Amino acid sequence: MDINFATGTLPAVRLGFGELFAQERRRAIREGWGFTVELPAVLELLEQIDEGRVNALDARNYLAQSVDLLYDAFRCFEAEDPDELRATCREAGRCPLCDERRPWFEGLLDGSDARWQRLQQPEEYPFAAGQHGLHETTCSVVRRETPSNYARPIGDAYVAALNAFCHTVDPHSSREDFEGSRDYPRFQAMTAQEARQWVTERTGPKGGRNYKRCQRCAPPL
Ligand SMILES: [Zn+2]
Ligand SMILES: [Zn+2]
Repeated sequence: MDINFATGTLPAVRLGFGELFAQERRRAIREGWGFTVELPAVLELLEQIDEGRVNALDARNYLAQSVDLLYDAFRCFEAEDPDELRATCREAGRCPLCDERRPWFEGLLDGSDARWQRLQQPEEYPFAAGQHGLHETTCSVVRRETPSNYARPIGDAYVAALNAFCHTVDPHSSREDFEGSRDYPRFQAMTAQEARQWVTERTGPKGGRNYKRCQRCAPPL
């Protein structure tokens, strides 16, 4: 990574992150912990300071600023304590992790919106599939496990939901029981035709079923 000092006296300084974490100088990553600077550049910089061509405090400040410039690019947030990262994010309203996962989160919300719309129309979408099997959309189990009211979060609620999702679940995992997930509709309501397709996809060659039919509502499929 190249850094051009504003004074123009030391171009193309190479910096790195993640190799050296000196316990003797432990501090926040934002304050430079875990960052490295190539030795020739440090020597050259010290020589220029000695010759009076560069102000020592300026040099120090430029180096300190490089952390902010490179923090995201070096993915330093991955080295932060997860709880601290989350707390800092909650205060600031954003963090690099949330920025990165925002499109994924928007996709989750799009899915929730669509599921909620369908769950409101049980005549059109009479069957509902959940994690544990197939129901009628009007089944009490579906109702119990679906929030009574759902609206896509906006404003402060959006920021809180983004924080809750991005910091408690890995988008690449298939975990569904993460924090906040109870606030979202999770049953997929289907037309009769879609439900028959859903059942076919989960029925084995010998008629074995790879899903459960709810005992309570006993969906007629
Ligand atoms: Zn965040
Ligand atoms: Zn049911």
